[in-house]
Amino acid sequence: MYEPLLSRTHDLASAFLETIDTRPVNARATFATLLAALGGPIPDGPQDPMMVIDHLVRSAEPGLVASAGPRYFGFVTGGSLPAAVAAEWLASTWDQNAALHVLSPAMSAIEEVAAGWILDLLRLPPTASVGFVTGATMANVTALAAARHEVLRRAGWDVEAFGLQGAPRLTVVAGAEAHASIRSACRLVGLGASTIVSVAADSQGRMRAGSLAEALARIDGPTIVCAQAGNVNTGAFDPLAAIADVTGRHAAWLHVDGAFGLWAAASPSRRHWLDGADRADSWTIDGHKWLNVPYDCGMAVVAHPAAHRAAMGQTAAYLIRAASEERDGMDWTPEASRRGRALPVYAAIASLGRRGLADLVERCCEGATQMAARVGALPGARVLNDVVLNQVLVRFTSRGGVNVTPAVMERVQTSGVCWAGGTSWAGEPAMRISISGWRTTPEDVAASADAIGAAFDAVR
Ligand SMILES: *Cc1c(COP(=O)(O)O)cnc(C)c1O
Repeated sequence: MYEPLLSRTHDLASAFLETIDTRPVNARATFATLLAALGGPIPDGPQDPMMVIDHLVRSAEPGLVASAGPRYFGFVTGGSLPAAVAAEWLASTWDQNAALHVLSPAMSAIEEVAAGWILDLLRLPPTASVGFVTGATMANVTALAAARHEVLRRAGWDVEAFGLQGAPRLTVVAGAEAHASIRSACRLVGLGASTIVSVAADSQGRMRAGSLAEALARIDGPTIVCAQAGNVNTGAFDPLAAIADVTGRHAAWLHVDGAFGLWAAASPSRRHWLDGADRADSWTIDGHKWLNVPYDCGMAVVAHPAAHRAAMGQTAAYLIRAASEERDGMDWTPEASRRGRALPVYAAIASLGRRGLADLVERCCEGATQMAARVGALPGARVLNDVVLNQVLVRFTSRGGVNVTPAVMERVQTSGVCWAGGTSWAGEPAMRISISGWRTTPEDVAASADAIGAAFDAVR
C-alpha cells in the first residue's frame, strides 16, 4: 500500500538532493504565484496520494530555497547530513511518540544515548539533563524555566505552584548583543523583556565581564545571567570563564546560549573560546545549525536535573511513568507528544564520529577565513569582525563613500549563485556570511566570493 507512493517520493526527494548544488540557491516564485499553484478549494473527496505528492512537489518546487546546499550563507543555516536525512525519514515512517518510555522504548533509548553523546562531544557535565526541543528558542525557554524554578526555590518560593504573583523579584541580566530569542524566552516565562538588565558589549559583541560585575553588585535577590557562545553576527564568544567567576561570586544562575557556538567544543583548534562554559548551569544548543540535521532540532541542557524536571514535567493518572532507570522524554521538554527528534542527532553523530564532527566545524571556520580574505580584498569592502568562527560581517562602500551594502546584498540574493543576508552592525547595514553547512567546499567559497565581487562591481 505504501510502496509505489514512497518509491515515487524517494525519487523526487533524491532528484532534489542530487541537484542541490547546481540549482539556483534562491527561490524563483513569488508568494502569490505559490498560493495560486498550491491553493484552491478543498477537494470534495479523496484524491490519489500519488497525485497529491506530485502536485505538491511541482507547485512548491519554484519556491524552494537551496538552504541545505553548499552556497547558502544566510542566518546560521546548516544543511542535512545523509545519515540524518535518512534517520529523519525513519522518524516519520516509524511515527513513534517520544513522550514516554512506554510509548516507545526505542525512542527513549535513542534519546538517552544521543543526550550522552552531546554532553561528551560538547564537554558539558555528564550528569546534566537534556531535552530535545524544536530549536534554540525553545531551548532558551526551557532553560530559563528551569533557572526560574531553581533561583526562586533557593529564595523559598515555589514558582511551579504559585507562579510569579507575589514571588520575590527575579532579575535577568544579559549582554547587549544577546540573541533576540533570549528576550522572547523571558516574555514566555513571565519575566518580561524590557526588565532585562543589559550589560555593555565590546566591538565584537562580547559581554564585558567587568560591566557584568558592576551590574550584579547593584542587584539583590534571585538572578539569572544569560551569556552567549557565538554571536549571531560576529561569531564572537562572551568571556565565559570570567563571567562564571562573577556569577559564582553572586550565586546567580548562569545560562549560556550556544546555539551554534557550543559546537566549537568539538574542534581542537576552536574549543579554547569555550573555556569556562562547563561551569554554567544551563546551555542552549541547536542541532539544525552546525550538527547539520534537518529542521527542527534543538537541545536544552541543564546542570540541575531536578530543576529541569520540576519546570517541565507533567503528571496525570493515565501517564504511565518509566522506571527510574528509563527515560521519559517529556520530563525535559515543554511538549508532551513529540516526534523522534533525537533520531537524526544519533545518526549524524554516529556517521561523523568525533573526528568527522571536528572536521565539519573546522572546515566551516576555514571557509569563513577564506571568504573574509577574498571579499575583504575587494576595494571598498571591509570585514568588520574578527573572524574567530564561521561568521563574516562585511560592509561595502561605493567610490563616492556611500554604504551600498543593501544594494550588493539584493544582487547577491537574486544571483542564484549564493545567498547571504543582512544585519545592522554599529548602526549601519552589513552583510552576514555564515558558513555552517557540511557540503561547502573551498571551490564553493571561491565561486561565491566571485559572485559577491561581481555584485559589488555592478553597484560600485
Ligand atoms: C539561531 C540562534 C537562536 C535561535 O535559534 P532557533 O533554532 O531559530 O530557535 C538563539 N540563539 C542563538 C545564539 C542563535 O544563533
